[in-house]
Amino acid sequence: MLDSDSVKTEKIYYEDAYAVHFTANVISSGGNSIVLDRTAFFPEEGGQSPDRGVIAGFPVVDVRIRDGYIHHVLEIPEGKRMPAEGDAVEGAIDWDHRFSNMQQHSGEHIFSGLVHTEFGFDNVGFHLSDREVTMDFNGVFPEGGLAMIEQKANEAIWSNIGTQISFLEGTEAREAEYRSKLELTGAVRVVTFPGIDACACCAPHVRRSGEIGCLAVVGSINYKGGTRVSILCGRRAMQLFAREHMLLIRTANFLTTSAENVPESTMRLKNENTSLKAALKSASIAAMEMKAAALPAGDHDACLFEENELTGKVMQETVNRMTEKISGYCGLFCGNDAEGYRFAVGSRKKDSREMAKILRERFGARGGGKPEMVQGSVHAAESEIKMLFD
Ligand SMILES: [Zn+2]
Repeated sequence: MLDSDSVKTEKIYYEDAYAVHFTANVISSGGNSIVLDRTAFFPEEGGQSPDRGVIAGFPVVDVRIRDGYIHHVLEIPEGKRMPAEGDAVEGAIDWDHRFSNMQQHSGEHIFSGLVHTEFGFDNVGFHLSDREVTMDFNGVFPEGGLAMIEQKANEAIWSNIGTQISFLEGTEAREAEYRSKLELTGAVRVVTFPGIDACACCAPHVRRSGEIGCLAVVGSINYKGGTRVSILCGRRAMQLFAREHMLLIRTANFLTTSAENVPESTMRLKNENTSLKAALKSASIAAMEMKAAALPAGDHDACLFEENELTGKVMQETVNRMTEKISGYCGLFCGNDAEGYRFAVGSRKKDSREMAKILRERFGARGGGKPEMVQGSVHAAESEIKMLFD
């Protein structure tokens, strides 16, 4: 049974971040959660998501720390027995997942240490999940500041600095210089990359900085008056590079150009698209003007149908052209029977809102406007609409 006087769960990862397999005794079991006397599983703590793995053959889906005890939530299949108090169990963490977290977390310390030295900003928020690694700094970086820190962080990684982990107590803890200094009781675990950073931390770290591999800044935004920086290290940085490189190559192949020319080619396509749109607009204005000009003048109603896409402005202009010579309702319907029509109806003598009302009542059309012109959309057949303009 758990009580405040019992010996708390021994954290194997405190002493050995590389321990994968371990044996332990169950000191408490309830629901789908067990507490062990010792564990290699890092719980959700300090902004980092927990380890994955197996205990007694069951997948570990969550690991949480409460009052110094580490609770492992297991996925127990139907008909299987949960490990009971007093049982000896074998456990193993998912090493790939753990090592990736170690790369990210050690990389974060080096980055934050350099930021503190160069700019004096504190890391006031850290988040390490399977999807992202973010740090919140209480300051705004000058132009080029992040790139400079990224460069220095990679140099520190490639210098292959040995990690030092120490437990400081009392005066020693009070007098030592390290980040994340809090008024803690008991020993403080300090993780040091000599010459770069020292920081109070409970998480597993790499033995030497070289194991981080590399560090890439992948984003930064202004956040609560400071800066939220996203990074990726090691394997995750390589995965991002591979994914984005593939996207770039696919885009280059699509544009039948080289990767270097992708920005220019894309800009050229965009500019071409803009001028084509403008040319299409003038062509459709000219075409619609011709159609409007071909209509006989008089005080009857008239309507035009157009399959090609027209902008709202072109539709308005065409209807205005029609109302100059025809004093009844002048309608323009753009679209087709299957997908429906966008419409503009205008008149100099009649109230166009009346026609909008008829379209709404007969066909459930949407839209409205002023007596001079209404606009909207309708699902109806061309033949049915035409009958309204006789
Ligand atoms: Zn840390």
